[in-house]
Amino acid sequence: MRPAAFFDRDGVLNVDKGYLYRREDFEWIPGAIEAVKRLNDCGYLVFVVTNQSGVARGYYREEDVVRLHGWMNDELAKHGARIDKFYYCPHYTEGTAIEYVKACECRKPLPGLILQAFAEWEVDREKSFLIGDKDSDLAAAAAAGITGYKFTAGNLDEFLKNSNAIRE
Ligand SMILES: [Mg+2]
Ligand SMILES: [Zn+2]
Repeated sequence: MRPAAFFDRDGVLNVDKGYLYRREDFEWIPGAIEAVKRLNDCGYLVFVVTNQSGVARGYYREEDVVRLHGWMNDELAKHGARIDKFYYCPHYTEGTAIEYVKACECRKPLPGLILQAFAEWEVDREKSFLIGDKDSDLAAAAAAGITGYKFTAGNLDEFLKNSNAIRE
C-alpha cells in the first residue's frame, strides 16, 4: 500500500490558459516536474485529477485530452518522472457534445475522480493529499477524506517541500 499525491492539472502542473488541449500552448509551472519526481522518488503514487468540461462544451475531443496527457508523461520521462494515471472528467451539465452532457459524479468539487483512483490502486489514504488551485479542488479532497493544499503561485516543488505534505 502506497500513499498517493493528487494534482489538479491546470493552474498547478501547467499554466491555466483556459480550455488548454494543444501541447503548443502547454507551459509547465516552475518546479512541477521536480515535484512529480520528488514524489516518485518518495514512493508516492502520483495522479492527476482534472475537470475537462471543454469536451462536453465541444471545444476539443476526449482523444485530445488523452493525447496531451500522453505527451506530458513523455516529457516527464525525460526527467525520470512519471504520473501514474490521469483521471479527468469530460462532463458538464450544459454542452454541445451530447454524450458528455450530464450531471456526473466525477466533476470536482465532487470526489469521484479521487474515489476512482482509490478503487483502482492500493492507496494509503491517511498519508495521501491533493494540491489544487481552486476551492473546488479542496472540496473534492475533503469529500474524499484526504488533506488538500491550495497552490496559487510560485514554484510547485518549493510549495510541496514547505507544505510538509510528504510523510515518511
Ligand atoms: Mg486548476
Ligand atoms: Zn464527470
